[in-house]
Amino acid sequence: MSVPFQRKESPAGNPLDWEIQFAKHVGPQRALTLRKLGIATVRDLLWYVPRDYLDWSHVSTIGSLAPGAQCIVEGTITRVESFGRGRRGLVLVTLKDDSGEGLVAWFNQGFLRDGLARGMRIRAAGRGQLLRRDERVALVCDAQSFVEVHPDRPLPALQPVYPLTEGIGQKGLRRIVWEAVRAHADRLEEVLPEALRTARGYPTAADAIRVVHAPADAATLAPARERLAFEELLLFQLAQALRRRERASERAPFPLRIDARLDARIRARFPFPLTGAQERATAVLRKDLAGPAPMNRLLQGDVGSGKTVVALYACLAAIGTGAQAAIMAPTEILAEQHLATVRTFLKGTKVRVERLLGSMPAKEKARVRERIANGDVDLLLGTHALIEEKVRIPRLAVAVVDEQHRFGVLQRGDLVAKGLRPHVLTMTATPIPRTLWISLYGDLDVTVLDELPPGRLPVKTLLRPASHLRKAIPFIQRQLEEGRQAYFVYPLIDPSDSLPMKSATEMARVLGATWFRKRKVALLHGAMTASEKDRVMEDFRSGRAQILVSTVVIEVGVDVPNATVMVIEHAERYGLSQLHQLRGRIGRGAHESWCLLFSDARTQQARERLRVLEATSDGFRIVEEDLRLRGPGEFLGTRQHGLPQFRVADLTRDLALLAEARDAASSIVDADPELAAPDVEPLRKALAARYGDRLTLARIG
Ligand code: ADP
Ligand code: MG
Repeated sequence: MSVPFQRKESPAGNPLDWEIQFAKHVGPQRALTLRKLGIATVRDLLWYVPRDYLDWSHVSTIGSLAPGAQCIVEGTITRVESFGRGRRGLVLVTLKDDSGEGLVAWFNQGFLRDGLARGMRIRAAGRGQLLRRDERVALVCDAQSFVEVHPDRPLPALQPVYPLTEGIGQKGLRRIVWEAVRAHADRLEEVLPEALRTARGYPTAADAIRVVHAPADAATLAPARERLAFEELLLFQLAQALRRRERASERAPFPLRIDARLDARIRARFPFPLTGAQERATAVLRKDLAGPAPMNRLLQGDVGSGKTVVALYACLAAIGTGAQAAIMAPTEILAEQHLATVRTFLKGTKVRVERLLGSMPAKEKARVRERIANGDVDLLLGTHALIEEKVRIPRLAVAVVDEQHRFGVLQRGDLVAKGLRPHVLTMTATPIPRTLWISLYGDLDVTVLDELPPGRLPVKTLLRPASHLRKAIPFIQRQLEEGRQAYFVYPLIDPSDSLPMKSATEMARVLGATWFRKRKVALLHGAMTASEKDRVMEDFRSGRAQILVSTVVIEVGVDVPNATVMVIEHAERYGLSQLHQLRGRIGRGAHESWCLLFSDARTQQARERLRVLEATSDGFRIVEEDLRLRGPGEFLGTRQHGLPQFRVADLTRDLALLAEARDAASSIVDADPELAAPDVEPLRKALAARYGDRLTLARIG
């Protein structure tokens, strides 16, 4: 029989895998919009959980309406007015309840006027706002946030609020989601093993999806949302657990035996004895490097704790054994600086050091690449581009990734993907609290450098109002007269019309033309070319320039021990850890150093936050304060940390759940490393769909 016309709503196959355009009420046009929200299939649509819920059950009295407060009121309409015409108009309703009368307002939604009439009973959700036209407080709402109250029609308890994008509204999206839930939720596979699911008191996947899109009350919503988040986190933790196992069975291509002679030769390169913490770290490295499995270690050490020396120790261990080593830095400035440091330490040795930077001319890069491939380079320095470019490092035994927090941790995966299994040492000055790293980067071992090299004087930190800068100038001038150097840091490169802030370009000019006329003031920012940056850093390092005006490009790693003053204006613009990093640029030599923070932070909280820097120089405490005051959200910026995007789980509130998922994943993998048993089979499939590309295990999938 021939088909008379194409029924495009119903392609073949599992409806959960249909392209989104075939979902009811969608079609090709809307599909484009939904794709912008990350919804490509019907399954994605079901997993598109509300950002928030309007809780229609907490009704406040109209009399209690206050500016700024979010609330819901219910009452009878006694008057409807509208001002302006068409869509742009203002609709103003007077609402009466037992406490009295109040105003409800809709801006730019003139079309609502016809639906509202005297005598109607409505419930409206919004935020109190002082109306400019007559200085009265009104509850300002959007179009979706009111409902008519009928004695015979129950109100939805919690109404979902979805994240939107241009081209689709709450009402439209709700309709599409609800239809998909009604028609297809039953098909959702149950991924959690039954025993685990019931032990945790979770509903089935299908029920959980139904509940999060149309919860009857908060009590049923909580376990449903948690269940979905747990499922995501469990898959993530399973991937980690499998990766851990996988690594344990990997073989490093070059086991590096470091005997006493090599150890002594390496130490002789450093003009100072190692600190106790460096001793402990290198002892751990010696063990790691000699083992059969590739090392994967995170070295955490506060700014200035001497991580570079530890890194170089590992590199020289490789080179001394006839293999190659590489150090990757997040910026070219830092790569250049490492080059300078390494060259001084290695002066008089036969170690062949090369650099490979994205900004080098293509021809030169090709030449370096060839020398590396031929084994004519022992130590390679460069930016992250090292692992992205077509570099072949045939005898790479040790790879160091400096200042990891700048580009995430999964680079080891990138190396493995290139067929390399070197020992990897990742270094960071942003301490990750133990509870976090164990769950997030579970396959990393961690060593902490908890001691600064001797003779350091703690940096003095002062927080002052912005207008006090001029009072600090004579002090800075005296520092320069004594031969010291100073940094000035600004949030902008160039002046901006929309942001009322000072910029580096402008301030370099102003400082050089006024207070520091007799000094050389250099300017550094991210928009400069690599060779310009080099030149500027060289001027500053050599002391030709006494002042460096910069953006946060100097945040990581820059090491000029003679600089003793760090001026940061608009300090409230930065995170605490970032300020701590900036402060770490000074206090690196024998001279006392000062960090001067200028800020007009208005709120109590913002000032309290900056005070933390005055009170402590302990990077761990600072990160913990940052976490406490702002939550881990920013700290965990997913992109930075190479974490997957979760649809439901939110690490800012699901940290405890993450730890529980980790435990569950460990016991699953310990009991059944192949995930072969029937009750974990669905997990294995889900894992292959979600993380298959990151797991090299042939048995997964
Ligand atoms: P970070 O941990 O911030 O990367 P660096 O490796 O840049 O710190 O080291 C900071 C400074 O301390 C450098 O000038 C370095 O030469 C010096 N340094 C490192 N280790 C020692 C040590 N054991 N004794 C004295 N100075 C040291
Ligand atoms: Mg460093």
